[in-house]
Parts: sequence; structure tokens; C-alpha cells
Amino acid sequence: MHQIIIVGGGAGGLELATQLGDRLGRRRRAGVTLVDRNRTHVWKPLLHEVAAGSMDVHQHQLDYLAQARWHHFTFSLGALEGLDRMRREITIGAIRDDRGEQVIPPRTLRYDTLVIAIGSLANPFGVPGVAEHAFALDSAEEADHFNRRLVNAVLRANYHAEERNRELRVVIVGGGATGVELAAELHNTTRVLAAYGLENIDPERQVKLTLLNADARILPGLPERISRATTEALEALGVQIHCNEQVVEVAAGEVRTRAGKTFAADLTVWAAGIKAADVLREIGGLETSRLNQLVVLPTLQTTLVPDIFALGDCAACPW
Ligand SMILES: Cc1cc2nc3c(=O)[nH]c(=O)nc-3n(C[C@H](O)[C@H](O)[C@H](O)COP(=O)(O)OP(=O)(O)OC[C@H]3O[C@@H](n4cnc5c(N)ncnc54)[C@H](O)[C@@H]3O)c2cc1C
Repeated sequence: MHQIIIVGGGAGGLELATQLGDRLGRRRRAGVTLVDRNRTHVWKPLLHEVAAGSMDVHQHQLDYLAQARWHHFTFSLGALEGLDRMRREITIGAIRDDRGEQVIPPRTLRYDTLVIAIGSLANPFGVPGVAEHAFALDSAEEADHFNRRLVNAVLRANYHAEERNRELRVVIVGGGATGVELAAELHNTTRVLAAYGLENIDPERQVKLTLLNADARILPGLPERISRATTEALEALGVQIHCNEQVVEVAAGEVRTRAGKTFAADLTVWAAGIKAADVLREIGGLETSRLNQLVVLPTLQTTLVPDIFALGDCAACPW
């Protein structure tokens, strides 16, 4: 049987595996295998809700094994580590448990058609301090980690008399969809937290949300009227928006911009742009962009190998 392997069960890959499983896998016209480094799928555009605490990730995740069973494909757990074009094989890394013991050894999978859909990561653009001092909403774990830090900061302010008048300052770097959605969501959840029995917190006075954006307006990819309306809506919620502020350093407790300004930050979120994972850089000799994305034709076939496709955030399609 013709073997189709899809690597990455995110917004693009999961939908593709499900549809191909229903159309081809069910009638055994092709074998369809989905590979992902995680056991469950969480729809990435919801991660700002996980970060803000308005969504319980456990209720919204989808188990790949169950989805595979329902939709006639096979699920294989592990991270893509290599590609051998000549042998038509991909290498999947070992799976280890939390004690570092190997659960599944490294292995290879053979394909006739390969689709790479492993998404993207936050791009630090070489700005010092991002990895050490900022959160990125790249995964459910990271969004959850941010949420625990946020809730702890609010609890601390509520229960420690000496911190009661202190502000909780959250700086979001990046005025695209992620940063904008997170700012609005954080405004709501800090009020909900306070309403659920944290009587010593006054969110209007003590929670300060700042959005820093390098472009002249937020949501630069959308029409100007939307960005204007969104700016007005966020400012009405008390979010402070600073445009034309390019961040040049993230330090412990503050964010510095090229214009020489410093913004105090108890929590910093980096949402300034994306790049594809380093594993794709020169993988199998395929053509990649400077953001590590696989360059594809309008058919989503990679430029050098027609049997290898890429889609979603890890693909670059010159239009
Ligand atoms: C907070 C937030 C809000 C957003 N809001 C919107 C929005 O409103 N509208 C919009 O259009 N977009 C939005 N986006 C962007 C959108 O989420 C992405 O464009 C979309 O998820 C990309 O889909 P994808 O399939 O390429 O990758 P993803 O959905 O990121 O999936 C990638 C998958 O690959 C897996 N993977 C990664 N590396 C490996 C590896 N080495 N081996 C195996 N598996 C791997 C991951 O576990 C994951 O399951 C938002 C993003 C965020 C973070």
C-alpha cells in the first residue's frame, strides 16, 4: 500500500490525517500515519486562553490515539529528527519518561508521500534575554506555566499586606493576533480571579497590561480600520499600547526598547513573530527560507522533491 506520513498533528496536520484516513485509510487505499511529539492535540489559537486561565486545557485536548482509531489512520509518537531522501525514510527520536528512561527507542519510518506540518516557534530575533526572561505561547505546557506564574502573583498580592498596593505589570511584546488576544483575555481573567474571593486585589488599579509593538499600528496584517477599532477597544479596557517600540533587550523585571525606554515587567510574554524549528534547517537538503521554513510551490510540494509536501507555519509559499 502507498504510505502517506504526516509529521505534526497541529491545525493543519491533524485535519489532513483525519480527512485522508476517512477517504483512503478506511478503504485501505493507502496507509496514513500521523507522527507528533505529543500524545494530545491542543488547537494553538486557544493557547492565549490557557495562558490567561480561561480555558482548561484538559477539557479541550484531543487524544491522537483515539482520533486515529476513529478516523482510520495510525498514530506514531515521537519528534522528527532527520530525513533520508534516498531511502525515503524519516527518523523519529526516542521517547523518554520524566526520569529520563527510554520508553520508545529511536526509529525510522518509510514513506511514499511525506507531509511536514510541524508548525512554528516564537522567534526571538536574536534579542538578548528572551529565552531567559520571557514566556512564549508555543505549547500548552508553556501557556500553563505562564498561567501558574500569573495566578501566584495575584495570590501573593492578595495575601501579603506589604504587596497589596504593588502593581502587577505584564508586558506583551508583539501586537499581532496573539499579543492582542492575550491582552484582552488577561484583562478579563484578572477581574474574574479578583471576583472569586480575592477581596484585597483591585485589578483596575493594580493590574497593568502593556502591549509593545514595533510597527506603527497593532494588527499590521489587517486593514487599518480594524487595527484602529482594536486599539480603541483595548485602551478602553486600560491596556497601554506603545507602537513604534522595538524591543532590544528583555531583562529580569524589565523590557528595554531601541528608543531608550524601559518598561517594568513582572511577567513578559514574547509574541513578536515566528520561525520554524531548527530541525528543518537543511533537512534532507530541501530548500528552506531564512526562518527555517520549507519553501513550497503553490501545490505545497517542496521545490526540490515533488513527493515531499509542507504546509502551515513551517512552510513558505512565495505568492
Ligand atoms: C495564542 C495564539 C493565537 C493564535 N490565533 C490565531 C488566529 O486567531 N487565527 C489564525 O489564523 N492563527 C492564529 N494563530 C496561529 C495559528 O495557531 C498557527 O498559524 C497554526 O496553528 C499553524 O498550524 P500548523 O499546523 O502549521 O502548526 P501547529 O498547529 O503549531 O502544529 C504543529 C504540530 O507539530 C508538532 N511538532 C512540532 N515539532 C515537531 C517535531 N519535531 N516532530 C513531530 N511533531 C512536531 C506539534 O506538537 C504540533 O502538534 C495563533 C497562535 C497563537 C500561539
